[in-house]
Amino acid sequence: MSIKNCKESQVNIIVIGCGEAFDSIMGNSAYLLRQPYQKSVLFDCGYQIPERLWRYDRDKDIGAVFFSHLHADHFFGIIPLIARYWEDGRTDPLFLYGPNGFKNKIIELANLGYPGLLEKIDFELIFKDYLDGNALRYENIIIKTAITKHSIINHAIRIDFMDKEKSIAISGDGRHTDQSKKLICKVNLLLQEAYTIEDEMHTHSSVKEIMEINRELSLDKIGLAHISRKIDASQVKKLIDERTFLLEPNMTIPV
Ligand SMILES: [Zn+2]
Repeated sequence: MSIKNCKESQVNIIVIGCGEAFDSIMGNSAYLLRQPYQKSVLFDCGYQIPERLWRYDRDKDIGAVFFSHLHADHFFGIIPLIARYWEDGRTDPLFLYGPNGFKNKIIELANLGYPGLLEKIDFELIFKDYLDGNALRYENIIIKTAITKHSIINHAIRIDFMDKEKSIAISGDGRHTDQSKKLICKVNLLLQEAYTIEDEMHTHSSVKEIMEINRELSLDKIGLAHISRKIDASQVKKLIDERTFLLEPNMTIPV
């Protein structure tokens, strides 16, 4: 199976899931970048994600997967994705980008789940570490990262397009740091985790923190994700401004 370039006529982000770790309705937070004549790029791949990709044939043109961090709701789905690519006869390489040393974790996970899988697949897995936030290029996008405050190392990710004046950022998990705020500055679209309403956790962002950051950085659009399943959406809607909205699974956001 050779991976086709996307047929979409414009640049879109498709929300595959936008919930916290254990939310059955919203699903794990993960986003698909689709652009005309380019391979699609997946950002995060938790355990609920492969099924959500397969159901709508959204796995077919993925050329690269970027991981914000290595919690199960952000990367445990990569092994079933690889296994089904093998069954479907994929031959094109799959680029994987993640925190330093993530290759060993993926190999460990594959060996636990499907021993021998990585030896028999007919396509190459190309691993690239984020290193120190140096810019990385994949096709027509430039990726930069910055660390947030989470219980393990998490990278907020910024995507700049080489052929258009647009940019997106994806927070992954965690509270913002000076570096991550600098990273997301002036992006057109921020996909942001906000686990709680108030600032009550050191390792997760909140709706309140994001509204403050929005006043400081004046971002164009912020889609909130990863909100605790115990919080009612109506509570959040009362607190957000006109540039902020709640993400929903299967939402298509033009960039
Ligand atoms: Zn996490």
